[in-house]
Amino acid sequence: MIYPHNIEISEVTAQKVMERLKQEGLAATPNNYEVWYVYFSHENQDVVRSIDVLLKSSEKLSEEDCHEIYNRFLSDNRTEERVRKAGDDLKNTINNVRNVVEGVKSSTHEYRNSLESISQKLSGTPSSDDLKAVVTQIQEDTRHVISKNQGLESVLEESAHEIEKLRKDLEKARKESLTDSLTGLSNRKAFDAEIQRVLAEAQADHVSFSVLMLDIDHFKSFNDNFGHQVGDQVLRLVAKCLTDGIKGKDIAARYGGEEFIIILPETELAAGVAVANNLRKVVANKDVINRNTGERLARITLSVGVAQHSGTETIDELIARADAALYTAKHNGRNQVAAAPTPVRKAG
Ligand code: GH3
Ligand code: MG
Ligand code: MG
Repeated sequence: MIYPHNIEISEVTAQKVMERLKQEGLAATPNNYEVWYVYFSHENQDVVRSIDVLLKSSEKLSEEDCHEIYNRFLSDNRTEERVRKAGDDLKNTINNVRNVVEGVKSSTHEYRNSLESISQKLSGTPSSDDLKAVVTQIQEDTRHVISKNQGLESVLEESAHEIEKLRKDLEKARKESLTDSLTGLSNRKAFDAEIQRVLAEAQADHVSFSVLMLDIDHFKSFNDNFGHQVGDQVLRLVAKCLTDGIKGKDIAARYGGEEFIIILPETELAAGVAVANNLRKVVANKDVINRNTGERLARITLSVGVAQHSGTETIDELIARADAALYTAKHNGRNQVAAAPTPVRKAG
């Protein structure tokens, strides 16, 4: 994460962080420090919200709470570092192989020279002592070359393993950087890329697409009543209803807090509204059970705004219309779907 702070601001924030860590009885480890630095500098609203919610339900934050917040909201920022490290490791591995190949090359070259000089010696009439010396030398040189080649083989094998491991690490880091760690859905960054791809495909194929903006109703009071952890459990449950309820090319992402967004490629408004209503009903009919107590909790409902891409508008304009429709659904009483009207074409 990049913090746009000058020395004075960072010093004031650092002071607040240190006082707070002391007050909470938390170790001033880099991760704890960053969690509280982000909190006081308001650089990440998810962190601020999570800490505020936790502080409401318990007076202090534990090491585990900090650890969870760090992993959930800040550790993704480590992806770049992991990718850079994987790149460095790859460079080292390649250098290692190159050095060994160079070594083998020079020993093969020496071997060839040695064989040539032997063949010259043999072109005369060698004595049996000469022959014995020649055989010994060939044996020695051959053993030397074989051992060098074996070295190369094992280094190559090791490097192949190492490169495969790096490939997997990079793939894992890439996936993590695009996934919301709480729900496993695509995150905002992945959504931003996906919607651009869907827009480009829709324009190329002359088809339209729709987006659904979904928001959990009265989630704040749900959190207040049942606690943050049960709230998290509900977010996971809703996420699962969404992924189970869409198909094929559809993409569900966590847009922020308790808001989700779904892209429906090749889908017009009426069909989008139908999908939204199905999802809304599935969630409304779910029993939410508190895992710790087995108690049945309040029903969860969603409000949804649906908008179909006009063909000419920007993604920001499309999302603003879906958001306005969501607001209408909330305003009309929640647990319902509202469709955004077709935008009026700008003259000219
Ligand atoms: P509305 O029906 O108008 O949407 O009301 P609301 O209470 O759902 O909306 P509001 O925006 O006032 O509150 C959203 C709440 O969502 C605030 C916060 O406690 C909760 N929230 C956001 N992110 C998380 C999260 O990651 N975990 C949990 N447990 N709660 C979250
Ligand atoms: Mg809400
Ligand atoms: Mg909201």
